[in-house]
Amino acid sequence: MNGLTDEKAVLLQEIKNLTLENKKLSRELRMTNSFLEKVKLMVEAKETLGNLLTSANMIQRAYTDMLLDFCPNIIFLLDNDGKFVLCTKALINEIGVPNFDYIKNYTYKEIFSKFLSNDTCNRLSQAIEEVINTKQKVILNEYIDFGNKNSLRYYTIELTIVEGMRGGNIGITAGILAVFNDLTDFIIEKERAEAANRAKSDFLATMSHEIRTPMNAILGMTEIISRSELNGAQRKYLNDIKNSSNSLLTIINDILDFSKIEAGKMEILNGYYNLRELLENLYAMFMPLFKSKNLELYFSVSPNLPHVVYGDDARVRQVLTNILSNGLKYTQEGHVEFYAWVSEDNMLRVDIHDTGIGIRKEDLKKLFRPFEQLDIRKNKNVVGTGLGLAITNKLCELMNGNLWVESTYGVGSTFSVEIPCITGGEEKEIENKTEEIIDFSAEGAKVLVVDDIDINLSVAEAMLQIFGIDPDLALRGIDAVDLASKTKYDIIFMDQMMPEMDGFETSKLIRMLGPEYEKTPIIALTANVINNAEQMFLENGFDGFIGKPIEVDSLNLCLRKFLPPELIKYDGKIKWNN
Ligand code: ADP
Repeated sequence: MNGLTDEKAVLLQEIKNLTLENKKLSRELRMTNSFLEKVKLMVEAKETLGNLLTSANMIQRAYTDMLLDFCPNIIFLLDNDGKFVLCTKALINEIGVPNFDYIKNYTYKEIFSKFLSNDTCNRLSQAIEEVINTKQKVILNEYIDFGNKNSLRYYTIELTIVEGMRGGNIGITAGILAVFNDLTDFIIEKERAEAANRAKSDFLATMSHEIRTPMNAILGMTEIISRSELNGAQRKYLNDIKNSSNSLLTIINDILDFSKIEAGKMEILNGYYNLRELLENLYAMFMPLFKSKNLELYFSVSPNLPHVVYGDDARVRQVLTNILSNGLKYTQEGHVEFYAWVSEDNMLRVDIHDTGIGIRKEDLKKLFRPFEQLDIRKNKNVVGTGLGLAITNKLCELMNGNLWVESTYGVGSTFSVEIPCITGGEEKEIENKTEEIIDFSAEGAKVLVVDDIDINLSVAEAMLQIFGIDPDLALRGIDAVDLASKTKYDIIFMDQMMPEMDGFETSKLIRMLGPEYEKTPIIALTANVINNAEQMFLENGFDGFIGKPIEVDSLNLCLRKFLPPELIKYDGKIKWNN
C-alpha cells in the first residue's frame, strides 16, 4: 500500500513539474514572439527611416547642387592634396569643361596651369601654401583671363583653411576654400568716375591757366602805370584795379589749388624754416587790413615758440592766412585773437578766435565741403568761392594735421589747427630763400622775350624797360630761333605753352644754333607754377622760371642772377618813372 502511494506521489510531483515546465516554456514562447514582433517592428522602422533619410539627403543634395549651379562666384574646395572636391558651376563655365567630373581628382595646379599665366599660378600656389602654414585667410588680387570671356577680369581671391569638424570621423581633416570675387565692373566704374573727376580737375586747371594769362597783362600793366605820374583820383582808381585783380588772382589760385588736390598732385615739401619769422610776416600782412576795418587783431605767440622748425612753410602760411582772412571777412565788429604755440608732442597749434557772425550748428558739417558758402544772405557782400576751408582742411590732412572749429551763431568762432612740426633745427639749416632786391640797370643787355600773346610781350617789354633794357620780341618759336641766329642774346625769356612750337622745342633749337648758345640762360615764363616746377624746367633745358603774372621783384632777381655781371650797373640810373 505504501508502495502505491509513493508511486502516485512521484507521478503527481512529475505532473506538477511538467506543468511548471510547460508554463515556463509558454512564457518563453510568448516572450520570444514579442521579441520577434519588436525585431520586426524595428526592421520596418529602420526601413522607413532609411527611406526618409535617403529622400532628405536627396533634397539636401538637390539644394547643394542648386547652390553650386547658380552661385555667380567661382568657389571651389580643395582637399589636403590640392585636388578639387567641389566647385561652383561658375568655374566649370569659365574654364569651359562640360562638368565637374572633368576636373574631379585633378589638382588645382594641373587644371590652372592650362588657363593661368605661370606668374599667376605661382602666386596662387604660394598663397595656398601660406594659408596651410599660417592657417590664416590670405587675399590675392589678380587679373585673370580664363578664356571664356576673352578678356582679363579682375578678381579678389579669398583663400581660407576649412577644418573638417564633421569630416573628422571619416578621415577628412582640412581643405582649402577659394572664393573669387569678380570686381572688374566695379573697377571699370571706379576708373570711369576717376576719369570724369580728372577731366573736371583738368578743366579747372586749364581754365585757371587761361584766366591767369590775361591777369598777367592786367596786373603787369597796372604795375607799369603805377610807376608813371598820376593824380590822386587816377592813383585811387588804379589801386582799385590792383585790389580787384589781386582778389581775382586769389580766387583763380584757390581753383588751381583745389584741382591740384583733387587730382592728387598737391605735394607737401618739407624743409627747415623760421616759424617766428613766418608768424611775424603774417602779422605784418594782416595788421593794416584789420586796422582799415576798425577791428582789433590780438596776435600773440608762446614765449618759448621755437625759431627753426621742420615742415612745409608755404602750406602752413596758406592754412593760417585762409583762417585769418576768414576771421577778417566774417567779423564786422570786435576782434580776432591769434595764439600760436608748439606742444610737447611737436605739434604747431594755433587758435584763431573771432567775434564775427558765427556759424549755425547745422552748417558746421558743410564748412569743409568745396564750393559751400553759408549764410548767403548775410554774406552777400563778401567775396569768396567757398573753397578756402576745403583747401585748408585738405592741406592740414596732407600735412598729417587737423583742423576743427567751434562756433556760436551770432557770437563768434574759434578755428583750431594742429600741424606736426619737428623742432630742434638750427638757423643755419634754413635755405636762404629771401633775396635782397637791389635797384640796378642793364642798358647794354641783349634780351629776347618769346610769347604767343601780344599783350604779354608788351607787359614784359615795359617791365624790362624799368631796368633800361629794350628787348627784342617774338610771337612764335620759329621767329625766336630766327632772331637768335642773327643776334647773340644775353638772356632769353621763353613762354612755355605756345602753338606750333612750344617753349621746350624752341629752346632746344636755339641751343643747337651754336656753342655760344650752349650756356645762354633761358628762363621759362609760365602761368602753371606747380610745386616741382623748378626741377621740371631744369630737366628740360631751362635755367630757371618766372611765374606769371610777372612781378618786377622776381624779374629783378632773375636778371641779377643770370645776366653777365659786367652788364649790371648799380648806378642809381634805374628808370622809375615817378
Ligand atoms: P569763402 O571763400 O566763401 O570764404 P571758405 O571755404 O573759406 O569760403 O568758407 C566757407 C564758408 O564758411 C564761408 O562762405 C562762410 O559762410 C563760412 N565761414 C568761414 N569762416 C567763417 C568765420 N570765421 N565766421 C563765420 N563764418 C565763416
